[in-house]
Amino acid sequence: MKLPDTARFSTICIHAGQEPDPSTGAIITPIYQTSTYVQEEVGRHKGFEYARTQNPTRLALERNIAAIEGGKAAYGFASGMAAIDAITTLLEAGDHVVVTDNTYGGTFRLFEQVLRRYQLSFTYVDTSCLDLVDKAIRPETKMLFIELARRRRIKLVVDNTFASPCLQRPIEFGADLVIHSTTKYLNGHSDSVGGIVIAVSDDDSEALKFIQNSAGAILSPMDSWLILRGTKTLALRMAQHNVNGLALAEYLSSHPKVKHVLYPGLPSHPQHELAKRQMQGFGGMLTFDVGSVEAAFDVCKRVRLMALAESLGGVETLISHPASMTHASVPPERRAKIGLTDSLVRISAGIEDPADLIEDLKQALG
Ligand code: PLP
Repeated sequence: MKLPDTARFSTICIHAGQEPDPSTGAIITPIYQTSTYVQEEVGRHKGFEYARTQNPTRLALERNIAAIEGGKAAYGFASGMAAIDAITTLLEAGDHVVVTDNTYGGTFRLFEQVLRRYQLSFTYVDTSCLDLVDKAIRPETKMLFIELARRRRIKLVVDNTFASPCLQRPIEFGADLVIHSTTKYLNGHSDSVGGIVIAVSDDDSEALKFIQNSAGAILSPMDSWLILRGTKTLALRMAQHNVNGLALAEYLSSHPKVKHVLYPGLPSHPQHELAKRQMQGFGGMLTFDVGSVEAAFDVCKRVRLMALAESLGGVETLISHPASMTHASVPPERRAKIGLTDSLVRISAGIEDPADLIEDLKQALG
């Protein structure tokens, strides 16, 4: 199927990277559950030799997501963390990385508890403050998360998991590498764990392809297939995540037991104006402060429709207590520094009817 160059976002999501299956015409790319491919004679084959190196289901997904993010190539990994780990292999011992200070707890753990042992170093700063980023940069800095990177010939890496490419495409803003935990919005149905890296330059593409095959933390055919099915409805799902996220944020903002709500779609959010300029919608992720850890635990326990669980980006609404769940691996002093208090509750708004979600919160808050 030849996609016209003018194809728009939802069309790209549905069609990019996929052809009717050459052997049967099946419109959906099959799950090629195989470990190897038969060769006609030594060195003569159809471009597939061994399934760690190439798999048609994974290839279709990688081409699909490269197109969705506006990149040149994409590489699927066994999880979001495996994707982040793969990116760090572009670094060498002695290199330094500037990291946004409210990064996902698992990323912090990988950097601090694993990669420091390999002579990599990391500085965490509030990357919304350009001065702080500037001060954190050293001669050996090779990666960071904001636009200064280009000017300094430092790689700009964006974890776009929370926004999804439907709301924000970092490559259009100059990112060199984008990563996703596909576990979240790209798959969208809470039934797969995976990760992907999208690259722009030939050098990065080659290096990632090499590490994908050499280290072998590949995305499975079944997961590739599930995510490929997920991206077909990405635009529709994100539209409802936007509606539900805003509806819950507005409801919570007016609730007397809620101290404050953090949601980029609210004018009270410190980066609201930036989000308005840069994003096509504000997504489904919000946090709110209920004043004490006891009250936070209470809400998490009393919800009926929302599920108390880690993760995000699925069609069902999840609630969590970040300090003891997603960010438990971040030390308490650091959590305090970035405002991740024990009284915060996080919601990943699903795509249910927002009125049902509001009723659930109403009864849970009492
Ligand atoms: N990046 C972000 C922003 C995340 O929220 C997560 C997981 O929650 C990850 C990366 C890690 O992804 P995975 O759980 O698929 O390894």
